[in-house]
Amino acid sequence: MCAFSCVSQASKKIAKVLMEGGKLLAESCPVCSTPLVQEKSGEVYCVNCQKRVVIVSKDEEIVEKLSLPSVLAELEELMVNMIHKEIDKISSSDEPSVDGFERLNQMLEVLKRIRELKAA
Ligand SMILES: [Zn+2]
Repeated sequence: MCAFSCVSQASKKIAKVLMEGGKLLAESCPVCSTPLVQEKSGEVYCVNCQKRVVIVSKDEEIVEKLSLPSVLAELEELMVNMIHKEIDKISSSDEPSVDGFERLNQMLEVLKRIRELKAA
């Protein structure tokens, strides 16, 4: 089981994977219930256990009523903070870079996905 103290660490790692083009899955780790992420390569893993997870079956049984881990709420907060910082950066710059908007767009996508999972 994952102690509460490692939740923010896990959410930061998840955020990093997501920003690198990974996906947040509806499934959570069978060991610590951290939401699983899927890398661009297709590998599914738990950032908290730092282990690859093989999803044996996509049965409703597994997806069904996950007790939504606190890490999702933590992740949402983290994304919102990152978005605010990015907006600050863009608005304080004389010449906003395309990169900034690109990052902002990615963050919003990630945030959207987090909210979808929370609402699921
Ligand atoms: Zn885990």
